Amino acid sequence: MDLTIAGSAPPNNNKRKRENEGKHGKEDRGSDSDSDSDHPETETDTPKPSKAPKDLTKDFRKLKIEKMAKFTSVAGDLIHRSQLTPAPAGGFPAIQSDSLTAIMENVTPQTNVLWGEEKKKGSILIIVPHYLDATVPVQHNYVKLLQATTKGLIKAGDSFKIFPATLIKAKTKHTTPLPFILYGEEADKLNILGTQPMWITPTVSFSAILATATPSLFICTLEGYYELDPTEANEKSVGDTVGRELATNAEIIKWAQYEPERYNALPAATPLHKVTEEIAKLITVRHLKVVERQQEVIVWRLYLTKHFTSRPEYFKQFVEKVCAITFQRLEGAGKAKKTNYECACCHGRDHPTGLCPYKQVPGFFDRDPNSYRQAMEAKQDAASTSIQSAGPSGVSIPANNNSSRGHFVSIVGTEAGDRKAFKGKRGTKRRRT
Ligand SMILES: [Zn+2]
Repeated sequence: MDLTIAGSAPPNNNKRKRENEGKHGKEDRGSDSDSDSDHPETETDTPKPSKAPKDLTKDFRKLKIEKMAKFTSVAGDLIHRSQLTPAPAGGFPAIQSDSLTAIMENVTPQTNVLWGEEKKKGSILIIVPHYLDATVPVQHNYVKLLQATTKGLIKAGDSFKIFPATLIKAKTKHTTPLPFILYGEEADKLNILGTQPMWITPTVSFSAILATATPSLFICTLEGYYELDPTEANEKSVGDTVGRELATNAEIIKWAQYEPERYNALPAATPLHKVTEEIAKLITVRHLKVVERQQEVIVWRLYLTKHFTSRPEYFKQFVEKVCAITFQRLEGAGKAKKTNYECACCHGRDHPTGLCPYKQVPGFFDRDPNSYRQAMEAKQDAASTSIQSAGPSGVSIPANNNSSRGHFVSIVGTEAGDRKAFKGKRGTKRRRT
């Protein structure tokens, strides 16, 4: 899930600033020498305006133009350029575990029945707006905004409808994304939105999920290997540990072999006694550095490289079985985290919000795109409108503004450059040693 952002590096702000400073300094010197020659040191009472103020206004104008260039006018509103985000090369990263099944577990049975009925009539699409607080009733204006945006994106007709789900009461503030149903339009048109997991528009951003449920590829996060370094070799090694255990674990074997639908995505010729071996081959591991109780720890995320079953309910059973296993190694006992992370940004479950891969996407929002919350926060200091919040693990990262991203991109340089880039950005873990 590493994103290469160097290719689309935004302009180096530091460099531009330095250039401006340099230019300014030079002009100042120039005007000094001018005034020296034009007006000898005799005049004291009425100092004529030197060239300096004139140059300054020029500079201000230039600065203003530079600042304005960051904005684009959309329907009469000035929108920050970064909010018109193109998809990164290679597409947006997958939203791990933000599957239809996971989403639909949080809506009331009535909603489930209603949406199921609509599904029978024709195609539906489900979208989950980012940043929307699902613990308070959604505002009518917001629904209208979301409808206008999605309608515009797919050029839908008048029969196109959008409606929020009724949620099962959320236990915590971050854990329940609010899904919306999109229906009343041809499947082809709705599926345009389904082609990309994430949509960023000047008004709203959301994840799109096709109504045909597919299992997630994310299994769980292992913790407990405290002496294991975060290297690629160790990722492979943890994968081997897990794979060996899954292939030979009696519970898993019994479960997998019980019902052919549980491995219906494996090659049809797979013999019964090879099923768990084949599943074990699909295991892949990625490490993640998180801060828990003021300590940096490494956790290991388990994924499948591809599905072994097409049925989400069976994958869920498999995950439950895996979570009950202790994967013993010399470095410790690896066990699944009891509660997954729940990213408040993309609703993925394999990382805390602070480490959301979407935030590495060039041009990701500088600010909360929820215009209603924006209006409320406008009175506050701009710096405090950062969308980041401490993740469940307590990870805190600096505001995701363009300049910091620029710094991150331009850090591939000298050590001195590094220090400059991270000036005043303590708390980031990206400082190199
Ligand atoms: Zn995320």
